[in-house]
Amino acid sequence: MQYKRILLKLSGEALMGERQYGIDPKRLAEYAEDIKKVVELGIEVAIVIGGGNIFRGVAGASNGMDRVQADHMGMLATVINGLALQSALEAAQVHTRLLTALEIKEVAEPYIKRKAIRHLEKGRVVIFGAGTGNPYFTTDSAAVLRAIEVHADVILKGTRVDGIYNEDPEKNTKAIKFDHISFDEVLKQGLKVMDTTAFTLSQENELPIIVFDMNTQGNLLKVVSGENIGTKVNL
Ligand code: UDP
Repeated sequence: MQYKRILLKLSGEALMGERQYGIDPKRLAEYAEDIKKVVELGIEVAIVIGGGNIFRGVAGASNGMDRVQADHMGMLATVINGLALQSALEAAQVHTRLLTALEIKEVAEPYIKRKAIRHLEKGRVVIFGAGTGNPYFTTDSAAVLRAIEVHADVILKGTRVDGIYNEDPEKNTKAIKFDHISFDEVLKQGLKVMDTTAFTLSQENELPIIVFDMNTQGNLLKVVSGENIGTKVNL
């Protein structure tokens, strides 16, 4: 296997499935099955989950809310998603731990780097909730930060598109997909992979990112098996 330890980033929006809002239990169960297959290969799996299906701080702030409070709401939304994912994984007989960057002791363990690594070594899927614990950041930044902290080999960004294109493939059917691209080229061409804070943190720490379509069952397994179905960003 190419990777010993992966960090999977799932957006909150992905959990909506066909819905307009909230969490689709069918989608969640599909994700759990896909993740289980990877765990069964002996790969250590850490997950950062977004909150965009429930609340985004920027949206709250644009409606007149204080940005910090709005971001706290966004971070709590990621904890809700983390609990839902934990429940789906446990229903599939996968051992998990939810660790949160904001302390909610009755609900989840507080994030402690060494604890997280220990859980991973024991084969438990570790879900990181509440982003970085700080307002003005995104869960993409949390994903990169946690991946570096726990020494993950790669970030797998599961999205609804199957990679990085030179133009938005949902707007232009002639858009061309990259199999590989360098960090520098992404910046030069102004392509959207992650927000700039997250992206440069990944670049500075030489942590590769693979963008792939997580909504096709079996794709996660293909990616960890080294199949080039998405786009890999590295040096
Ligand atoms: N958030 C935050 N700090 C973090 C991570 C997330 O304040 O470190 C808040 C922010 O308000 C954000 C929301 O949580 O809009 C949900 O995260 P994100 O938008 O990254 O979720 P996704 O787009 O992946 O669903």
